[in-house]
Amino acid sequence: MASIDRYNPVTSEIVAELSGIVGEKYVIFGDAEKLQAWSHDEVAEERYAHMPEVAVRPATADEIAAIMQLANREMIAVTPRGAGSGLSGGAVPLAGGIVLLTGRMNKVVEIDLANMMITVEPGVVTNEINDLIRDDGLFYAGYPMSLETCYIGGNVAENAGGGKAVKYGVTGRYVTGLEVVTPTGEIVQLGGKLVKDVTGYNLIGLMVGSEGTLGIFTKITLKLMPLPTANVDLLCLFESAEQAIGAVPKIMTGSGIIPTAIEFMDRSAVRASCEYLNETIPYERAGAMLLITVDGSGAEQVEREYEAIGEMCLEAGAIEVYVADNFTTSERIWKVRRNIGEAYGIVTRYQSSEDLVVPISEIPALVTGMGRIADKYGVQIPCYGHAGDGNMHTRVVMNPDWPVEKWEKTLPVVLKELYELAKSLGGTISGEHGIGHKRKKYLPLVMAEPVIDVMRAIKKAWDPNNILNPGKIFDV
Ligand SMILES: Cc1cc2nc3c(=O)[nH]c(=O)nc-3n(C[C@H](O)[C@H](O)[C@H](O)COP(=O)(O)OP(=O)(O)OC[C@H]3O[C@@H](n4cnc5c(N)ncnc54)[C@H](O)[C@@H]3O)c2cc1C
Repeated sequence: MASIDRYNPVTSEIVAELSGIVGEKYVIFGDAEKLQAWSHDEVAEERYAHMPEVAVRPATADEIAAIMQLANREMIAVTPRGAGSGLSGGAVPLAGGIVLLTGRMNKVVEIDLANMMITVEPGVVTNEINDLIRDDGLFYAGYPMSLETCYIGGNVAENAGGGKAVKYGVTGRYVTGLEVVTPTGEIVQLGGKLVKDVTGYNLIGLMVGSEGTLGIFTKITLKLMPLPTANVDLLCLFESAEQAIGAVPKIMTGSGIIPTAIEFMDRSAVRASCEYLNETIPYERAGAMLLITVDGSGAEQVEREYEAIGEMCLEAGAIEVYVADNFTTSERIWKVRRNIGEAYGIVTRYQSSEDLVVPISEIPALVTGMGRIADKYGVQIPCYGHAGDGNMHTRVVMNPDWPVEKWEKTLPVVLKELYELAKSLGGTISGEHGIGHKRKKYLPLVMAEPVIDVMRAIKKAWDPNNILNPGKIFDV
């Protein structure tokens, strides 16, 4: 099996063959400026970037199959790419070779109202799915904070979570069918429009979250839900992060209600996003906030539920609970939440975006522990995330007074301690952003070697030449 540096270079003969498959204007070769755009995803640190040798923009599964067959014959690595919004380096072409852009495959194949299913190509922007079906009283429940830019293919590959996972779960819950081009270039159909299907191994479950290493999705069938007719957001202000986060397990286990979302934002995260957006929500008085959504099929039920949750927050020490019951106000608050990552992204490139997940009862201990680690090493660790499902995002941000060498030495130590903290609380190192190559070396911290070996064996069975997205999740 080839190692990461033993692939063959992309020659002009291979470029000509690729042009024959997808059309000359859909092959980008020899243009470093253009290719540079596909050398990284949204991971800020430059050391995770790597240039592709050539980019191709196929339009069909047949074209992708032909590319994969050529790549196997010539021993050239292929890295699939969606919108490039990933946060673990998954779409980075680590071995150079071909980066396979899925943006041209952005058609809606079918809206099947009778079965409440939609079939789309992988390059459809996630947010657009709901625009297509809203008037039919349906909705797709996936809601990553990047939904205005990311593609549904990338969501399936990462098993994306997001703001509504507390009630609706993550992407995989909605994937009933996949057309997949295998790493060796066959086109296979997995599942379809069945709500239940136990025919053989759950290969859709295997593909979902496989981070572009086991196959390229070319058609995706998603289960849709009835559109909730009532929706209210609560913005609950607390004096301290500990108080706010301490309220989360109480709401989850004591209210008898499953909220749609419970998002946590500490003051520095809200401030960064408000300054970035030139927005004013009342963060100065609060050490932290919970953004809680309740939705349902009737205004009365939703009112009963949000009042009960609001009361619980006040009992847990909230200084104020604001109610947002119209789209404009809700969207203002959610925009602040969705833009925290972007806001930090422009502050400094010396930062690391993290994605720890623990059982919900351990969230207070996780947040306290993160504060302790920040103090110990003198770094900033602002904290925000999907608290209702135990998934806390955080950025480890360099102390601005430090030389870069000190940051580079300290960051791995801080990360290891954060990951060990999550593990000690029964959690793990990624809830939704994936391992990619950013967290690869830390995987053995939370996963036993025999289990990683099983994944290696699966990878080998699907991809004997290690052609598809090599160097991700684990080394083969
Ligand atoms: C501001 C911001 C907010 C975010 N919020 C969230 C959030 O709330 N929840 C969350 O889960 N993530 C979030 N993310 C991370 C990211 O948006 C998701 O991981 C998303 O699913 C990536 O989709 P993409 O199209 O950008 O994929 P890319 O980044 O292009 O690729 C991601 C992985 O998918 C593979 N891939 C892409 N397309 C295919 C395909 N057709 N077939 C097979 N493999 C493929 C790639 O090889 C790569 O390994 C956020 C990112 C940003 C920048």
